[in-house]
Amino acid sequence: MMRRNNEATERHAERRRREDEAPRLAAAFPSLLTLKLHLQEAKGDVSVAETGHIRHVVVANAPLLFEMPCRDTACKDGGHDVTNAIAKSLKAGEKNFVGEHQCTGYVGDTPCQRLLRYTATATYK
Ligand SMILES: [Zn+2]
Repeated sequence: MMRRNNEATERHAERRRREDEAPRLAAAFPSLLTLKLHLQEAKGDVSVAETGHIRHVVVANAPLLFEMPCRDTACKDGGHDVTNAIAKSLKAGEKNFVGEHQCTGYVGDTPCQRLLRYTATATYK
């Protein structure tokens, strides 16, 4: 239990560090006004209802870093880094775009089956 807590704390610290080091969203995309992400995880073809949520990105302060944790509690070292995919769409000035990302973690010895789907809505100046 103690070890698990330490790992969680380390992961949190690592995440904070990466967020601090990432470029600011507003600096990278000066014309970006708002960004809303609808996130939903699926396991195979089945959506996992409780994982659905909307994230309103605070463009003025947000880092250019879109890493979502895997919501499977049994998943180890998982997560969804969709930073590059979203940055590419924002760079292209896309207003509505979707994407998905397969979790990179493991549940026991098997690769995690969770798939993150996002639907993004962006507005520009
Ligand atoms: Zn996972």
